[in-house]
Amino acid sequence: VFNFSAGPAVLPEPVLRRAAAEMLDWNGSGMSVMEMSHRGKEFIAIHAEAEALLRELLGIPGNYKVLFMQGGAIGENAIVPMNLIGRTGRADYVSTGDWSERSLAEARKFGTVNVAATSQDTNFTRIPARDTWRLDPGAAYVHVCSNETIRGVQYHWTPDTAGVPLVADMSSDILSRPIDVSRYGLIYAGAQKNMGPSGLTVVIVRDDLLGHALPITPSAFDYRLQAEHDSMYNTPPTYAIYVAGLVLRHVKDLGGLPAVEQHNRAKAKLLYDFLDQSRFFRNEVALQDRSLMNIPFHLKDTALDAAFLKGAQDRGMVQLKGHRISGGMRASIYNAMPIEGVQALVKYMQEFEREHG
Ligand code: PLP
Repeated sequence: VFNFSAGPAVLPEPVLRRAAAEMLDWNGSGMSVMEMSHRGKEFIAIHAEAEALLRELLGIPGNYKVLFMQGGAIGENAIVPMNLIGRTGRADYVSTGDWSERSLAEARKFGTVNVAATSQDTNFTRIPARDTWRLDPGAAYVHVCSNETIRGVQYHWTPDTAGVPLVADMSSDILSRPIDVSRYGLIYAGAQKNMGPSGLTVVIVRDDLLGHALPITPSAFDYRLQAEHDSMYNTPPTYAIYVAGLVLRHVKDLGGLPAVEQHNRAKAKLLYDFLDQSRFFRNEVALQDRSLMNIPFHLKDTALDAAFLKGAQDRGMVQLKGHRISGGMRASIYNAMPIEGVQALVKYMQEFEREHG
């Protein structure tokens, strides 16, 4: 099937085949990765390789720590302010959709949150222009969501925050394109879209932001403690780290992030070009802010939604139903979605429009 799920999502088939082949015996160890001690030499090698590949692919500078944690991006919505807001007690949040709203609501438990900009007035269909942001120079950080998974709104530029550390939830677009990590103070992402299975959360944090955790911060969620223990303060999600390492190796073999971005652009263009000429299907996001990863679309007549989904399912295209918040459809076309999947979807949409339009 072609799996358009928003996450957990499709993974590269060669990665799954390799994981299956190694399931019972990793590298002649006689053990499954699931059965290994996280402190044994085998797993330490797996962990180190995954981190090295992530550093290489994203070009992570030496003054940043990579942490492999648990709790997902929703956990990070609390863990970030617990670790960072204490420096001044205040943080700026830019709201571009449902995930940034979740982030800022959680942060309010830990300090004063200033909503520096929001696109709520346009039903979250765009990114507010930088010159409209009202940043607080005394904020401990500025938080953005680089790609709003539900409504398909993505930054195609990196905000300048005038020296205040920029924090980004990159859960749904990490590894989809090259980024300049040095422009960020902290990046976090759940793994279950472009990086691997759920259960692993990656945090990339600049050294100077460590060591400011609020006294209430649980030890397992204190970035400084996790950094000092190489993400082994508690037992890390070992199997998820192993699969992420396989995904990262695969991305490197494909030619790294520039090659991946090119592929992602080609896939998204196919679907957006079709939507733009259709009189039956529509996408509501401002052209310059459209996501390359998640493409929501609506049918002209919502009474046909169920028939559309059934026809898609019959043709082997699954998990196209939109998020309950936004309704309609959503095609998530992460790195591992082949272009053939998007071609098949567009072909089906053309047929459906001819029949019902
Ligand atoms: N942030 C973004 C942008 C997401 O897409 C998601 C999940 O879909 C989350 C946060 C929540 O992630 P989790 O459920 O892993 O905590």
